[in-house]
Amino acid sequence: MPSGLYLRTEEHIKHLRVVNIGRHHSSKTKARISETLKGHQVSNETKTKLSGLTPWNKGLTKETNELIRKMSEDKKGKKHSKAHREKISEKMQERKARDGYMNSPKAKEKISRANKGKHLSPKTEFKKNHKVPQEWREISRESGKKFAGEKSPHWQGGKTSLADRIRHSFKYRQWRSDVFTRDDFTCQDCGKRGVYVEAHHIEAFSDIIEFNDIKTREQAINCEELWNINNGFTLCKDCHNKTKGV
Ligand SMILES: [Zn+2]
Repeated sequence: MPSGLYLRTEEHIKHLRVVNIGRHHSSKTKARISETLKGHQVSNETKTKLSGLTPWNKGLTKETNELIRKMSEDKKGKKHSKAHREKISEKMQERKARDGYMNSPKAKEKISRANKGKHLSPKTEFKKNHKVPQEWREISRESGKKFAGEKSPHWQGGKTSLADRIRHSFKYRQWRSDVFTRDDFTCQDCGKRGVYVEAHHIEAFSDIIEFNDIKTREQAINCEELWNINNGFTLCKDCHNKTKGV
């Protein structure tokens, strides 16, 4: 590449962005660039120029923009390196200390909207509930002692039923996930897809427990009738509420 200055048209810059996706500088080149930029200050003129500019990707999505689509394809399945993740986490902590949050309220809303109706794979859901750092576990064990059972502000007279406990088990999440997958996450009543879905029991969960005289978690886990996916189907929240008479 010639080292002198030459004018790039906007088209040219766009083209360069597209062809350079997925390409990386060699470590030798990176070191050279870093050396060149050391002590380099961005001139005030450039700063003003940059501050007034709209980000190049504002309002673009991978559906409407070729470049974004390519970038997204390129990133698919790639994980950040450990060092990079630590860097991100550090920056997030800095922001939290400075602004009092990691994600702005607006960003939070966006994330929550994007996650509605999504269910993690059973493997991830399982992990999510079990991967607790050792020191947290110790803290919670300590505070658990203080607030266990009747001492807890949430104590409701020991009325957590077996059915409730089963509903929080891994096996239950697996059953639900199997029902959703079979129904392709589509409400079997109104046909909506991509909305928050729930798994409806044809035969009530608590009835099966009663009829089979299930008294323990182990008995529940071994009860085939409880885990038959033909006893469930996918409903959106509205249609599910209708079945409950809400
Ligand atoms: Zn529905």
